[in-house]
Amino acid sequence: MKRVVVSLIVVFLCRGADGSAAAADWTAVKTPSPGPPQSIGFYSAGCLQGAQALPFDGPGYEAIRVSRNRYWGQPVTLNFIQALSQKVHTLGQAPLYIGDIGQPRGGPSPVGHASHQNGLDADIWYERQPGPRRPPAERENPRLRSLVIDDQALDDSLFNGQHVALIRTAAEMPNLDRMFVNRWIKARLCQTVIGDRSWLRKVVPWYGHDDHFHVRLYCPPGNPQCKPQADFPHNDGCGEALDWWLKQPPTVFPSDEEMAKRYKPPKLPPACQAVLNAP
Ligand SMILES: [Zn+2]
Repeated sequence: MKRVVVSLIVVFLCRGADGSAAAADWTAVKTPSPGPPQSIGFYSAGCLQGAQALPFDGPGYEAIRVSRNRYWGQPVTLNFIQALSQKVHTLGQAPLYIGDIGQPRGGPSPVGHASHQNGLDADIWYERQPGPRRPPAERENPRLRSLVIDDQALDDSLFNGQHVALIRTAAEMPNLDRMFVNRWIKARLCQTVIGDRSWLRKVVPWYGHDDHFHVRLYCPPGNPQCKPQADFPHNDGCGEALDWWLKQPPTVFPSDEEMAKRYKPPKLPPACQAVLNAP
């Protein structure tokens, strides 16, 4: 089986590592900056003023891995998570596990992400640990399985209609720019969804994203320094674009050491320095 180590810069939406002082500086700040919420810059080269914290528990969701201190985001992002959780709860599903949003002031983080920098990205897990709610300290390393086998096929022993309903519900929410899922999940949706397929457009294949999906929201109104991502084709994405993805060899992520070596810090907008330096 031919395998490929994918390019770090292009690929690490949700993974990455860093040896630079710049990212460490952003991680060292434990509190948000003052002022109204403002997303500054791009999802993978930006920061967030006036971040708000997602409460660790809410109707239909539980934040996980809160020791990472990445539960900070734009109000629009927190509202999205809470509204999605309510909807999914109404569908009879177990509480969602909410992973990383962003650091207290956004910016690059030493381990785990290239994006999640301007308060508008969030990771939501496909699986939930069965059983009653646990306190946050017991949600640091939940058992959350991949829905894909070795990036070569969907795991049909795990993937089911609840996942389809979850992805569809998220894709149809207002304020969603796009969401990223593993290519085999997108392929299954393309093959099986009947009736209204318009929501498939926003479900975009990407490397990884086999155990969680990633939602990315539009720049909110009144955030003039927020840089939107380029628009993408207005179709279901099930044609040639997906064919390209399915032809790629299985993704193998480099080790943390290798990623650290290859890491290039993003160039942030000058306004981010003031966010970082604010008391
Ligand atoms: Zn992510």
